[in-house]
Amino acid sequence: MCKVILQNQDIVGYSVELNVARELKLAGAVGTKHIEQPLEAFEYAGRVLNFTRPAVVDVEYSFDGGGFTVNGMLTCAVLQNCTKCNDEFEQPFSIRFSERFLHVSEEEASELECYPFVGETLELDRMLEDLIILEAPHYGLCKPDCRGLCRSCGANLNNTQCSCSSAVENESFTSLKELAQLLKQD
Ligand SMILES: [Zn+2]
Ligand SMILES: [Zn+2]
Repeated sequence: MCKVILQNQDIVGYSVELNVARELKLAGAVGTKHIEQPLEAFEYAGRVLNFTRPAVVDVEYSFDGGGFTVNGMLTCAVLQNCTKCNDEFEQPFSIRFSERFLHVSEEEASELECYPFVGETLELDRMLEDLIILEAPHYGLCKPDCRGLCRSCGANLNNTQCSCSSAVENESFTSLKELAQLLKQD
């Protein structure tokens, strides 16, 4: 069971750090890291996101003399209710990212739209949280051709064929006839 966190600051349970001592001395050298990170459920804009597996993050980072460029891909999956039939399903997603880390203060970092770092460590938690909040899917279909629910009886049309379909057709036929009559009156 996932714990639901109302403030969205603790999605990444513990600190994810890159030690960049080597790259700081060797501008241009590329470091890589493979991270598997369990994520906590969180609520955002009235919806709860529950993750069904740990996030897998592959990062590539290098120092250019001024700061670090951190590129990579985050892959994970959320438990979702289909927007058409409301069935629960697992929706995988991937987020590509390219961010900058600079040796600056918090305030300067937010002005420059980058992340600050101190010493020889890049802390990736906040970057990962921002990516998940902004990019993880909040809506989705259980399958591209989901048939949804019957508007009359509420049956899930992926599983059953209810007997309302002809009634729905008659209804739309009636409104077409009404429309035709309205047009005639004009
Ligand atoms: Zn569906
Ligand atoms: Zn029906």
